Amino acid sequence: MADVTSECNIKVLCRFRPLNQSEILRGDQFIPTFQGDDSVNVGGRSYVFDRVFPTNTTQEQVYNACAKQIVKDVLGGYNGTIFAYGQTASGKTHTMEGKLHDPNQMGIIPRIAEDIFNHIFGMDENLEFHIKVSYFEVYMDKIRDLLDVTKTNLAVHEDKNKIPYVKGCTERFVSSPDEVMDVIDEGKNNRHVAVTNMNEHSSRSHSIFLINIKQEHTETEQKLCGKLYLVDLAGSEKVSKTGAAGAVLDEAKNINKSLSALGNVISALAEGTKTHVPYRDSKMTRILQDSLGGNCRTTMFICCSPSSYNDAETKSTLMFGQRAKTIRNTASVNLELTADQWKRKYEKEKEKNKTMKETTQRLEAELNRWRNGENVPETERTTADVVRLESVEERSPVLILDNDTSSIVVRISEEERQKYEEEIRKLYKQLDDKDDEINLQCQLVEKLKEQMLDQDELLASSRGDGDKVQAELGRLQVESSCAKTEVKEVLQALEELAINYDQKSQEVEEKGLQNQLLADQLAQKMASLMELEAELSHMQEVSGQQRKRIADVLNGLMRDLSEFSTIVGNGEIKLISGAIEEEFTVARLYISKIKSEVKSMVKRCRQLENLQLECHRKMEETGRELSSCQLLISQHEAKIRSLTEYMQSVELKKRMLEESHDSLSEELAKLQDQGNTSAMSRPSRISKGWRRLS
Ligand code: ADP
Ligand code: MG
Repeated sequence: MADVTSECNIKVLCRFRPLNQSEILRGDQFIPTFQGDDSVNVGGRSYVFDRVFPTNTTQEQVYNACAKQIVKDVLGGYNGTIFAYGQTASGKTHTMEGKLHDPNQMGIIPRIAEDIFNHIFGMDENLEFHIKVSYFEVYMDKIRDLLDVTKTNLAVHEDKNKIPYVKGCTERFVSSPDEVMDVIDEGKNNRHVAVTNMNEHSSRSHSIFLINIKQEHTETEQKLCGKLYLVDLAGSEKVSKTGAAGAVLDEAKNINKSLSALGNVISALAEGTKTHVPYRDSKMTRILQDSLGGNCRTTMFICCSPSSYNDAETKSTLMFGQRAKTIRNTASVNLELTADQWKRKYEKEKEKNKTMKETTQRLEAELNRWRNGENVPETERTTADVVRLESVEERSPVLILDNDTSSIVVRISEEERQKYEEEIRKLYKQLDDKDDEINLQCQLVEKLKEQMLDQDELLASSRGDGDKVQAELGRLQVESSCAKTEVKEVLQALEELAINYDQKSQEVEEKGLQNQLLADQLAQKMASLMELEAELSHMQEVSGQQRKRIADVLNGLMRDLSEFSTIVGNGEIKLISGAIEEEFTVARLYISKIKSEVKSMVKRCRQLENLQLECHRKMEETGRELSSCQLLISQHEAKIRSLTEYMQSVELKKRMLEESHDSLSEELAKLQDQGNTSAMSRPSRISKGWRRLS
């Protein structure tokens, strides 16, 4: 698979941050002295690195000095890793991330995001790129996906080329620097949401941002891929300094464990003689396996505080960097070979195999000569160089005890070695499977926990609801009983009103009847009055005539009298005295008759007048009575109207109350039902969960 290889040391860059405000206030000393651009002196000892950045180095300078090349390498098909090591607050995050959206203060990751796309735009147009990013953190030796909070314990697996990778972590395809920044923002947000004390958490966890670039030439179909790990390690300080205790101490130890695993791996790699490198001691070293001792161009930032207060930590950090500097990696381009390239490679391997076989034959011949007791002269012996080349030599097991170093070296046959290797492979496979299982179980536990929490919440809310419903129920019952009594009262009032109404209408009827009677009477009276009036006027007319006649009669009489007196005076009186006497008596008779008649007339007249007066009085009285009756009637009518309205409204209210009573009782029944079911539902749901589990 790989053709272009190059061996290179891990690049170690040292960066000192400036003294911070509290260190200046405390009067801390500034301990490093910088010599040239690759060396620093701390406590009288010089430490040399690939580059040393003094405190005033800008983010851009740091980027240009180290990371720019890495972008080119990754786009050229190499794997790359940049990681930042150092105690808490030494500037790791400042170096890796900086202020993400500030063009001057942004660190390596956002600059790389920009740069990758700038490079791509300047590359061959026939190249097709697939860029995906992942973001996860390692905390207490558990890998948590920062782009999917449900993945809390991811496992590390090996791909077909035996390169470890984080299995199942979220991968986001990105097509612009902004999209990369969005992913970083999302991951950082998730990280903030998941923890209570971010400062403490970030100093105890390792965060890893992975950029995976695949490119394919659309014409030649040549494929290249490169992975870039950007790692912000946990604080490297010793536990004692943080003053941790109990659970926090455990946690710190665990973090230190993964950091000390990193130290061990680096030591093993730096010594170079040890065959076993303990990558599997922690998830961190497992993920970084290829970056530390494999096919990768690795850059390590050693971040240091300049304060005298931190000098011990600073020295140990510098030592760590020195050791890491000796590690050599063999980086090669991740190239997928074309058929032609494969053929050439095959020829080469075949050639190699042939020479190997020849060597073996030579050695066997020599061995036979030795076995046969021959002392093979030195010039005819197979040289050591050739033997070292040999890789399939069969040896019988030999145990050599080396007293000087008190170490035991067991020589074993190739067959056994293969057996052991197979065994180891199997065990590793089992380990991976177990990891997978643990991961699954963790996810399940997480899910169950969530379910439990949900159920608890549901239960609590159901309880709360139940209480509320109970209270509501009580209130409604009270209300309903109140309403019932109210309805009863209203009904009673209605009944009374109905009775009253009946009475009143009866009264009205009676009054109407009376009114009718009175009106009839009044009409009769009026009729008799009219009659009387007619009679009166007739009488008055008659009496007038009578008076006239009387006056006429009296006048006649007076005239007769005067004539009589003249006659008497003339002596003719005696002649007519007898006749006069007769006429007098007649006249007297008439007069007395007239008198009596007048008297009776006057009497009658008076009677009639009295009657008229009486009639008037009675009429007035009746009129008064009539108007009072009419008033009463209108009052009664108004009262009847208002009573009817009241009755209607009461009826309406009653209906409404009945309706609300019905709905309340319905609701009550429903709530009781619900209460019953929620009380019963919790255990059944949980058991469902468990059933799914099994
Ligand atoms: P770490 O990630 O190692 O715990 P940080 O990167 O968070 O430390 O740095 C701690 C503080 O020091 C931050 O406020 C950061 O801005 C500041 N700082 C770190 N390095 C530098 C630097 N080179 N120049 C200026 N400020 C820095
Ligand atoms: Mg940090």
